[in-house]
Amino acid sequence: MSKAYTRDYWEEVLTALEPEGRHFIDGEHRAAATGETFTRPRPMDGKPGPTVSRGRAADIDAAVKSARTAFESGVWRKKEPLEKKKIMLKWADLIRTHGEELAMLETLDVGKPIMASLNVDVRLCADGIQFYGEMIDKLYDEIAPTGPNARALVRKVPLGVIGVITPWNYPMIIDAWKLGPAIAAGNSVVLKPAEQSSLTAIRLASLAVEAGLPAGVFNVVTGYGEETGKPLALHMDVDMIAFTGSTEVGKLIMGYAAQSNVKRVALELGGKSPLVVFEDADLDAAASAVAWGCFYNSGETCHASTRLIVQRSVRDVLIAKIEAVTKSDIALGHPLEPATQIGALIEEAHMDKVLALIAAGEKEGARRAFGAERVMTETGGFYVSPGVFVDMTNDMSLARQEIFGPVLAAIAFDTEEEALRIANDTIYGLAGAVFTKDMDRAHRFSEAIHAGTVWINTYDMSNFATPFGGFKQSGFGRDRSVHAIDKYCDYKTIWQQFG
Ligand code: NAP
Repeated sequence: MSKAYTRDYWEEVLTALEPEGRHFIDGEHRAAATGETFTRPRPMDGKPGPTVSRGRAADIDAAVKSARTAFESGVWRKKEPLEKKKIMLKWADLIRTHGEELAMLETLDVGKPIMASLNVDVRLCADGIQFYGEMIDKLYDEIAPTGPNARALVRKVPLGVIGVITPWNYPMIIDAWKLGPAIAAGNSVVLKPAEQSSLTAIRLASLAVEAGLPAGVFNVVTGYGEETGKPLALHMDVDMIAFTGSTEVGKLIMGYAAQSNVKRVALELGGKSPLVVFEDADLDAAASAVAWGCFYNSGETCHASTRLIVQRSVRDVLIAKIEAVTKSDIALGHPLEPATQIGALIEEAHMDKVLALIAAGEKEGARRAFGAERVMTETGGFYVSPGVFVDMTNDMSLARQEIFGPVLAAIAFDTEEEALRIANDTIYGLAGAVFTKDMDRAHRFSEAIHAGTVWINTYDMSNFATPFGGFKQSGFGRDRSVHAIDKYCDYKTIWQQFG
């Protein structure tokens, strides 16, 4: 029987929590070399949050050294595949058994609803580690075609030390998308989480060691992007940076790779995803998909359906349905209330940015249909209600910029050609969707929308078997699926000549 969670229960979990904020290097917690720390206000109520180590280049050096030593020693990469698999599966189990603790750490850091942290973020993190753990003893190398007197092995070998830099919107899930394949492939990792979301990364590392992952294979250095992420990306002994974050910082990461050792880079970046609704669509299904697709996680989702491109004849009725779904199903509230569906934004500065973009949009002529206002100020936290803007054109800032808040831009169209042109008129290419009952049109659109994922008559459905990532300035390289392993490996040819 599933547990009946209450607000009081979660308040007790929070009171009992003792978050560990130090780095995790070479199998143990370590304070920053300088001894420096930082704290930030809790998104849920603005009170001071836990203390976290403020890493700098010296801490990155220590972590990279530990990762390199573990890699060269072969303590992980040369282990029997079955043994490695068992350790990764145990790690996934430990994530599940510590689910409430991890969920609370995530909610404390980022302000998302505790039940979402538990039922979505913890679950998908454990599933990700398990998915790649299960692959370990099923990966084969190749024998290439040759003449009769030769044997050419094409081996898939790990790269070495992988620097992982992640954002704050889905910290545990995105960490797992990268840690799973990188570690399953035999690499060592140094993870720099976003300064806003350090706690679950640190705990994932200590659980990995508890599961049997050798010291040094997975290290975490916390701190600010410029002080911690930059030295990691510039490091001469790091073989690859796997990055998820903004397009702006992604471009810097490419530059750091070029300035240092030509390390590989994989970038999962921003989005401004179109969701196209034709007049023949099931409008109830479309309204629900639009509302959840745009407002889930307070709109702090890279592939959020932030641009609704709707046939003019059904625009008003669809907007009314979106408003009804939003108000009845997507409860905004305190993150520790079990019924809350969307919680706080990550921090005050981000909330101010979202509100400023809304104000700029209104100045440009966008009309507020509902919501998109600061609410729950009495809590001391950072809350904005989900909202929709209409009378929009695709050149307005609300339609072009990644707002990363619960704000939908609705743009009307008259013809299929116009809808497709608007959908693809963006610098991003992360995701998109089309709602129509005409399957020929659905097929045409799914092929023509230039994005890494296109949904037909649904939004945000996925599993670990499907790759995720973007085209254009949404980046390159794919997380999830069996293909994700490839980017953490290289091919090595061993040619043997006989007689
Ligand atoms: P961000 O500002 O780009 O930060 C991402 C990470 O990069 C953080 O760990 C950040 O550290 C670090 N960083 C910042 N400046 C750096 C520098 N100069 N050198 C090295 N590292 C640096 O992004 P965010 O605000 O955390 O996350 C939101 C963005 O992520 C959105 O654009 C969203 O679309 C994108 N995202 C994309 C995907 C995807 O799969 N495509 C998924 C989720 C999110 P600090 O936190 O300390 O600054």
